[in-house]
Amino acid sequence: MSRTGFELKTNAQIIAMREAGLATAAALAAVKAAIKPGISTLELDKIADDTIRGLGGHSNFQLVPGYQHTICSSINDEIVHGIPSPERILAAGDIVSIDCGAEIGEWNGDSAITVVVPGGDPETHGLREHLSKTTETSLWVGIAALATAEHLNEVGAAIEAYIREEAQESGRKFGILEEYVGHGIGRSMHEEPPVFNYAVREKGPKVVPGLCVAIEPMVTAGSAKTKILADAWTVSTKDGGDASHWEHTVAVHSGGIWVLTEPDGGVEKLARFGVIPVPLV
Ligand code: MG
Ligand code: MG
Repeated sequence: MSRTGFELKTNAQIIAMREAGLATAAALAAVKAAIKPGISTLELDKIADDTIRGLGGHSNFQLVPGYQHTICSSINDEIVHGIPSPERILAAGDIVSIDCGAEIGEWNGDSAITVVVPGGDPETHGLREHLSKTTETSLWVGIAALATAEHLNEVGAAIEAYIREEAQESGRKFGILEEYVGHGIGRSMHEEPPVFNYAVREKGPKVVPGLCVAIEPMVTAGSAKTKILADAWTVSTKDGGDASHWEHTVAVHSGGIWVLTEPDGGVEKLARFGVIPVPLV
């Protein structure tokens, strides 16, 4: 345990954790490939579950008390924690975020993507693609910040700065959720410390080898105010604006950083920031 009360992982533990990360990545890739108008979110849930089981793992979302599914699927104004259902059928042009996690052995992965379903009104489609791209880029900006950060909360400051810059450049209003944040990850999917997606006064814990975190910006096209739907799970925007969510599990180790939920460790996506992830062998 570190002095701040969370477990720092050894290189061997991070290597073991990578298996859960890759199973999570494979599940999300399979779901992404299946997304099309007419498919239900429950069908996507089964695809994710089959993929994770096929790789020798199991869903860690099902370990959350009261939750029975492998993914969360949040459509349009839903931000996170949407429940898969045979009645939720994706339509052309919908923006859907898929959050998924796997546990293998005693280690966990957690990752989320957003996809705009092909088709639909071209203008709405374009705005949704831009929202998703902005959120995804903010995640990579945050991961790049982690690579050189002295303290963890530099990640959120970098994410917020990027979102604000993109809002100004595009003339759009974006909100960053504050009620929901990223987290440490390891033997449990959710561990200390919190990982903010926005600037906070505190510096946060020191970034040291062994720190493993899930960074997960949730961004809205409008106000960041949320409400919880009648199902007691789904978090949606209060103003009905669209939302996007991207997430990766990232390890800091003695040689650098490695994105555990990306098959290439983040090499391709981090190149533009001059960050070179270092694999553990
Ligand atoms: Mg997640
Ligand atoms: Mg998470």
